[in-house]
Amino acid sequence: MHIEIVTIGDELLLGFTIDTNAAHIARELASLGVRIVRRATCGDDADAIAAAVREALDRTGAVITTGGLGPTADDMTKPAIASIFGKGMVMDADILAGLEERWRRRFGHALPVSNRQQALVPEGCTILPNRHGSAPGIWLEDGRGRWVAMFPGVPRELRGMLADTLIPRLRDRLPNDGPVIRSRTLRTANIAESALADRLGDLARGVNGLPLAFLPGNDGVDLRLTSWVLPAREAEATLDAAAARIRGKVDRFIYGEGDDDLAALMLAECAARNLTIAVAESCTGGMLGQRLTAIPGSSRSVQGGVIAYANDVKIRELGVPAEAIDTHGAVSREVALAMATGVRQRFGTGVGIGITGIAGPDGGTLEKPVGTVWVAIDLEGEVRAVRALLPGNRAEIRYRAAQLALDRLRLMLTRTVEDGENGWTAQGTETGPQTP
Ligand code: AMP
Ligand code: MG
Repeated sequence: MHIEIVTIGDELLLGFTIDTNAAHIARELASLGVRIVRRATCGDDADAIAAAVREALDRTGAVITTGGLGPTADDMTKPAIASIFGKGMVMDADILAGLEERWRRRFGHALPVSNRQQALVPEGCTILPNRHGSAPGIWLEDGRGRWVAMFPGVPRELRGMLADTLIPRLRDRLPNDGPVIRSRTLRTANIAESALADRLGDLARGVNGLPLAFLPGNDGVDLRLTSWVLPAREAEATLDAAAARIRGKVDRFIYGEGDDDLAALMLAECAARNLTIAVAESCTGGMLGQRLTAIPGSSRSVQGGVIAYANDVKIRELGVPAEAIDTHGAVSREVALAMATGVRQRFGTGVGIGITGIAGPDGGTLEKPVGTVWVAIDLEGEVRAVRALLPGNRAEIRYRAAQLALDRLRLMLTRTVEDGENGWTAQGTETGPQTP
């Protein structure tokens, strides 16, 4: 089934409100096998609404709208779409009674005149009840089976009504074992998109007939496989097989699936091994600690940390040797290692993590450009450091540095960490066990 979405509201066109409704509808319907083939947005203008919906109907015969069902003058979705179907507007006694009751109960007074408009509906429509707000949705269908489903713009109401009314209706119209749209996301960290594509080789163009999307973000590059045309069971089996082939090539870089959070995964990993954690953060300014402590139950593993921004603090609070800073600079392997070991020893933890880097925009040099970050992990005395040249602006570099640290911890906990395997830079350096 192909459907088009028309979202309605001046605030969407002005960019004040982000169109989350269209994204939500598309995601929810994909799993049913419904394909959203086009999205349009128009303002609170009856002619624009009628034109957008008429064109969409001509293409697919199936249209979902959100917005413009409220009680005010800018809410003109219903009459605009009724006109396309050659229908007038009639007062619906049940809706009116419901609104009057709702107002008496909730506000203790009679229904304002402007709200009566919410009870006006296109003749011959089906009312889609709204348990989440006051404006009901509308289903309008013509003799040829072409339909428009109209929903309120308020995202919470839209989400509730989709589940209550639209999804069951569509499910009734779809074949039982028909095609569905299913995706599988493999989350990678600490490797650039191009390096990932190189390692994947032919698979980068598709796996077992499934297209593969590269979705770079601050967490890393997500690899998303999508099955568009298979019935549910075959789709899952094909996704499993395709995901296994991808893992065969780049498993080392994959930390999770779906919406897995690397901080949550590492916390669970440490808890399972009874490892406590302490962090020593310079350029990330506490972001790693923030990410870890954002997760419920983190107190079992996280002991604390030091935001060691100034050199003095690195020396005084973490025991970083002043000579290490003088000789190698604050952003160096030696300092990162000393931070990791210093914080681990002072906090008496199993894991110590040190991060030092240049987040910019100033402070870069030829030798150490903006984005240069050293991360060191001290895992019960086994100490390793890695250098990366992280891309992006200050905020991105800081976030990626924290993610890099979590990913190094992952590698140390679950794999053998070898030299030169840092995907961000060809000169990734790692050092073996040593005491700085
Ligand atoms: P409406 O139903 O047009 O009165 O919209 C009510 C409110 O819902 C608006 O003020 C917006 O804040 C919000 N809204 C409307 N359309 C959308 C949309 N497509 N995505 C997200 N929020 C929306
Ligand atoms: Mg509106």
